[in-house]
Amino acid sequence: MAEDTPSGADDPQPPIEVVTYDPSWPNQYETERDRIYELLGDRIESIEHIGSTAIKGLAAKPTLDMLVGQPVLKVDDGIVESMISLGYHYLEEYGIPDRHFFRKGSPPTHHLHWVEIDSHFWEVQVLFRDYMRDHPEEAQRYETMKIKLAERFHNDRPAYTKSKTGYIKDVLERAKLWRFPPEGSDYIIVDLEATCWETGQHTNRMEIIEIGAVRIDSKTKEPLDDFSIFVHPTEEPTLSDFCKKLTSITQPDIDNALLFPDAFEKFLEWVGDGPHRFCSWGAYDLKQFRVDCDRNNIPMPDWLEPHVNLRRMFSAKREIPSTTMIQALEILNIPLSGQHHRGIDDARNIAKIAKIILPYLGL
Ligand code: AMP
Ligand code: MG
Repeated sequence: MAEDTPSGADDPQPPIEVVTYDPSWPNQYETERDRIYELLGDRIESIEHIGSTAIKGLAAKPTLDMLVGQPVLKVDDGIVESMISLGYHYLEEYGIPDRHFFRKGSPPTHHLHWVEIDSHFWEVQVLFRDYMRDHPEEAQRYETMKIKLAERFHNDRPAYTKSKTGYIKDVLERAKLWRFPPEGSDYIIVDLEATCWETGQHTNRMEIIEIGAVRIDSKTKEPLDDFSIFVHPTEEPTLSDFCKKLTSITQPDIDNALLFPDAFEKFLEWVGDGPHRFCSWGAYDLKQFRVDCDRNNIPMPDWLEPHVNLRRMFSAKREIPSTTMIQALEILNIPLSGQHHRGIDDARNIAKIAKIILPYLGL
């Protein structure tokens, strides 16, 4: 989003080009950051890589956006001269108050936004980036939209930028809830089971057959209560042998179960009036909720979207590759209890992991 700098009428810009993610972008950023630090380190508190090139895997306009934070905003001749010596043009505020804008290359290879650290501009850019980094599915949606808009408004940068505004506002609302959940939010840990087949499957084909959940107290991180309900799938209502073996869920269990809209309503009744934070191990459960809500024309409740992906947070914090729930239990010396691949038992096991890891994740 940092790329959305209004262009001056006297400053023609090249057509919008969105290219596939280039894995060398982070290194290019680091090289540039070090050059800037070398010259201006004593005037700067922090430099951040922002915008689409800072989000792994995301197609973007091939311009690196950088955010420079100064304790008190003061861009003087010395700073401008140093930036010019690094190949930048100084464009002053360039349409955004309290920001100094520098641009390098034609077409631009680097944008540098110079602001006061922790200013509104700073916080919004960093929050958007962190949320996208933590929600690859959302980043995927953003990418698809950008590619479409770049085709449509190839030579009309203001229209391209304007068309993204509503979406970006909406993402930022969710990102704020994700980063700053309402005071006292309980954690709702969910684990879904779904129809599956040995030959591989896709969430679009799969349907939820069990919603398992545990509520965790916001302060003590202790489980408060739990919930489980079977769901009757409609697209392929006969469970494969593979699915029955994997989940231990039987055909009669789901034959007599409620359809998704009613089962989901029961789940929401159990969840109650919030505030809540929805957590699960990995991104699968959020994805499957989206698919089943879509299939049944049910709007996704707002609180499900700022999702806490415990698996990603665990591996990021420990700097280890992504682990299964079973591996995480082993790492933390927690014995597996119940039947793995039953929603309620998986949710209870994840709750035990969460009790240990939520505090050191700062949640
Ligand atoms: P889990 O929470 O790990 O039990 O997985 C949720 C759902 O993903 C299961 O109900 C299956 O539909 C599917 N699934 C999980 N593991 C496998 C697997 N090894 N092979 C096929 N499908 C799986
Ligand atoms: Mg499970």
